[in-house]
Amino acid sequence: MPILDLRELAGHISALSEIMAGRQARFLVDLIRIRSYTGQERLAVERTLEELRVIGCDDVWMDSAGNALGRIGHGKRLILYNAHLDTNEVADEGEWPHPPLESVVEGGALYGLGASDCKGGVAAIVYGAAILAEVARSGDRPQHMGWLDDFTLLVMGATLEEDAEGFALRSLVERDGLRPDVVLLAEATDLTLRRGQRGRCEVRVRTEGRAAHASQPHLGENAILKMLPVVSALEGMNGSLPVDPVFGAGNQVVTMIEGPHTPNSVPSWCEVAVDRRLVPGETAESVLTGIPESARARVEGAFLARFGDTELDLEEL
Ligand SMILES: [Zn+2]
Repeated sequence: MPILDLRELAGHISALSEIMAGRQARFLVDLIRIRSYTGQERLAVERTLEELRVIGCDDVWMDSAGNALGRIGHGKRLILYNAHLDTNEVADEGEWPHPPLESVVEGGALYGLGASDCKGGVAAIVYGAAILAEVARSGDRPQHMGWLDDFTLLVMGATLEEDAEGFALRSLVERDGLRPDVVLLAEATDLTLRRGQRGRCEVRVRTEGRAAHASQPHLGENAILKMLPVVSALEGMNGSLPVDPVFGAGNQVVTMIEGPHTPNSVPSWCEVAVDRRLVPGETAESVLTGIPESARARVEGAFLARFGDTELDLEEL
């Protein structure tokens, strides 16, 4: 491998990123205009595959979980760039400063559904790969050629992230047998480089009552009313949840509430969903500690935090 002058290489990369900025922005605008709610990503996947071809990937394909993938190089060590193409659904268009599926640039910022989470990330990793490919292959600076010979770079526009975080990546590893040595996730982190995040689980908390006709409420027991103090208690637990020196504190948010769909009867049950963020060392049992005993609670789908430091200063690198 040739000896690199890192300052010169950084200059080369900056120059290429300026040259490619217009193409990258146009790709992002296209992605935002394609509605891709979780489970409906096909058009966004196809648009990403098209761009991966344009930037000169050696191989471009859709994997068994519907992810868009592009490969550059044939080296032994596998680097994976990953960002997701699906977005959450728009709850109320009226709350948006601009229509969510239009890309509008205002005051130097681009507005649109997924601009930050995570289509901006997809555009960034695709053009990060485009720059790497150009650096490694362009004949005008032969000192940089061969730079990537030891590596294979895989670019992944992932599906299903919002509803099933990690599913697409797991499928790539377990079903398709690809084992990356290094993974870069392009979630927005305010232009800092992070090396870990808190874990997450969902907690379902349920109160039981007794059904009765709404004209005779004294015969029943209202599960929604029983839930009111439980919701307050769940909110009140924030501030006393476990704290980790690196990751900070755990937190929880009551995100959904449900009951029977019978508007003319005293509700016999009420259930809330709680999104709980975890720090290292927490267990399913510890998550339930402190939830009022007047309710039944269970943990679903835990992803525990496992990694080290949270933040690196880009200037240090
Ligand atoms: Zn995201």
